[in-house]
Amino acid sequence: MKIAVVGTGYVGLVTGTCFAETGNKVTCVDIDETKVNKLKSGNITIYEPGLEKIFLRNIKENRLKFTTNLVDAVIDAEIIFLALPTPPGADGSADLKYVLGVADQLGKILSGYKVIVNKSTVPVGTADKVKAAIEKNYSGVFDVVSNPEFLREGVAVDDFMKPDRVVVGTKSESAKKLMSDLYAPFVRQGNPIIFMDERSSELTKYAANSFLATKISFMNEIAQLCERMGADVDMVRSGVGSDERIGKRFLFPGIGYGGSCFPKDVQALIMSSDEVDYDFEILKSVEKVNARQKLHIVQKIKTYFNNDLRGKHFSLWGLAFKPNTDDIREAPALVIIDSLIEAGATICAYDPEAIPNVKKQIGDKIKYAENQYEALVNADGLIIATEWSEFRTPDFEIMGNKIKSKIIFDGRNLFDVNKMNELGYYYKSIGRK
Ligand code: NAD
Repeated sequence: MKIAVVGTGYVGLVTGTCFAETGNKVTCVDIDETKVNKLKSGNITIYEPGLEKIFLRNIKENRLKFTTNLVDAVIDAEIIFLALPTPPGADGSADLKYVLGVADQLGKILSGYKVIVNKSTVPVGTADKVKAAIEKNYSGVFDVVSNPEFLREGVAVDDFMKPDRVVVGTKSESAKKLMSDLYAPFVRQGNPIIFMDERSSELTKYAANSFLATKISFMNEIAQLCERMGADVDMVRSGVGSDERIGKRFLFPGIGYGGSCFPKDVQALIMSSDEVDYDFEILKSVEKVNARQKLHIVQKIKTYFNNDLRGKHFSLWGLAFKPNTDDIREAPALVIIDSLIEAGATICAYDPEAIPNVKKQIGDKIKYAENQYEALVNADGLIIATEWSEFRTPDFEIMGNKIKSKIIFDGRNLFDVNKMNELGYYYKSIGRK
């Protein structure tokens, strides 16, 4: 099939590359000229395990192209995917200006039957809005389909190539057929393509992300109780997670969720609920708990240092909002950095992939180290904000030699408490004794 992907960010690039990998001819389009030029010359723009290899292979096989010209991208395409940003507007609701802006342009370009597929996370009713925007300028036949994306950064290629499920919202039989054919190679192991109406599909994405965010905030509250009641959250987690109705995944407490999706999607669903006069109380608490949890570790640090961080220097391991990505959008590490600096501390950070993005955002507000051990030099303590694998089993001897004070505030519960005590560390983690 001939496919256009409009928006070549985290979702668009993975989508375009994975569709090319199954033999489709894909053109990705983006308004960011620098990004497109980089991609055109075979340089990948995001860090995502496994992506670069198939990206390069499909460019070589002439199945994957990049352009800044929307007309060139969509003119021959049978299916046009929208993978555009839907950032929170001033009130927290999803800003549809990118999606509707492109829909408006498409109306002026389309000819013949096309299927426009929305992969962006959008509020219920957006498919109708996209349709109306196109119809302003185009009277031909087309369908607008909702096909929310569930990939997780860090394992995006695997998630896309072998999705748990594909959700497709459309009432059109022709669009259903096209989407079934397109996704057939991705669901060969029998995972379902779930067809539904557009509105249910749009809500499915928000419901999924909001439920996962709720799970995280719930466990963070249980961790708070553990700290106050002398229980151990690891024990509670395994006791609770063995119940099949609950499941083992997504029960790890930490320093709050971040990233480009959970914070904005929770906010957007709260706003959408308000618009239909429904007070989504649980979600409002989920947000509140998450904001508090990001600062919980800072509070622990302040308490340890008698509320005086002036002149203190900290090492920070992890900047990305989660491991295996360079994405720092809404990363808890950035909140921690701001609070510590405001309190008079200095920071030297290390992250395997996210340093360039952090440098772009906050420049020399902090220092950056070449590796995790260099970051420890002269540190009055180490703070762990992202659970990269390489942080899990460090060389404790090198660590001990580099760090000035053997103090660790671990926001990701990477180490065994007893072992750290044996090694002579003051070790504070989340929800553990
Ligand atoms: P992103 O910011 O990484 O990428 C969006 C891209 O769209 C950027 O490259 C931007 O330059 C481009 N763009 C903006 N306006 C354009 C226009 N008029 N024409 C062409 N390109 C344009 O965003 P993302 O993380 O890929 O997210 C895209 C959507 O997918 C969002 O709605 C998000 O909620 C959703 N989503 C994201 C993830 C994720 O893990 N990142 C997962 C599932 C769903």
